[in-house]
Amino acid sequence: MSLTRREFLGVAAGVTAAGALAPGLRLIDLVQARSPEEAVTAINRWGLLIDTGKCNDCDVCVTACSSENGWKLPERPETDPQWIRKVTLKDKQTGYVQTLPMLCQHCEKPPCVDVCPTGASFKRADGIVLVDKHICIGCRYCMMACPYKARSFVHEDVTDQKHHAPRGKGTVESCTLCVHRVDAGRIPACVEACNKDGNKAMVFGDLNDGASDIRKALADGPSAQLRPDLELNTGVRYRGLS
Ligand code: SF4
Ligand code: SF4
Repeated sequence: MSLTRREFLGVAAGVTAAGALAPGLRLIDLVQARSPEEAVTAINRWGLLIDTGKCNDCDVCVTACSSENGWKLPERPETDPQWIRKVTLKDKQTGYVQTLPMLCQHCEKPPCVDVCPTGASFKRADGIVLVDKHICIGCRYCMMACPYKARSFVHEDVTDQKHHAPRGKGTVESCTLCVHRVDAGRIPACVEACNKDGNKAMVFGDLNDGASDIRKALADGPSAQLRPDLELNTGVRYRGLS
């Protein structure tokens, strides 16, 4: 996929649809991924730093997310769900091209939450933005509100679901920052894969912890949020954006 920056940051169109949950899955489990004794608190603010200078045509992050969370690599990118995707940005004036992974930015002030009529779109105290599939009615208002086109609508029946990543036809979904792994003290699958088989372009951690890997990496050089003019204070940051 090749997009200009303007096209890439455009707003998706949407229409209404009724939600249909896959049988046998407790979609609310995603909301309660931490153990009940261990409350999610605002002590943590989980974030991700992506160094676009290290990121090239490799797509191990996309493959890892697909495998971890049970969504199929898209055959029809315009409509098939994509929790994370590689995009190419081209500066129209200089011709400079960058590729980078695009995913939910886990905004501190998420427009997707503001517009959701049912409360299905919500932000945890630690900054992770999720969809409660039990009460998502598939209206897709959140898709229209998201400036990053980070959300997908599930058009078809889903199979081979993972219990930690419940999905349902007729609902909207997006990157969960691998909340099930984070709550178990692990790093997201994309970050693990990038460190192992990719170019070590991703650092995950607690933005509130001055001693965390991500805070140390952020201190090492400049970084930016996508569309900082929107003042969403995203949890995902990028280094090397032109
Ligand atoms: S990137 Fe989009 S889906 Fe993710 S929190 Fe921000 S507005 Fe919501
Ligand atoms: S589609 Fe989005 S806005 Fe509509 S109910 Fe579901 S989460 Fe909320």
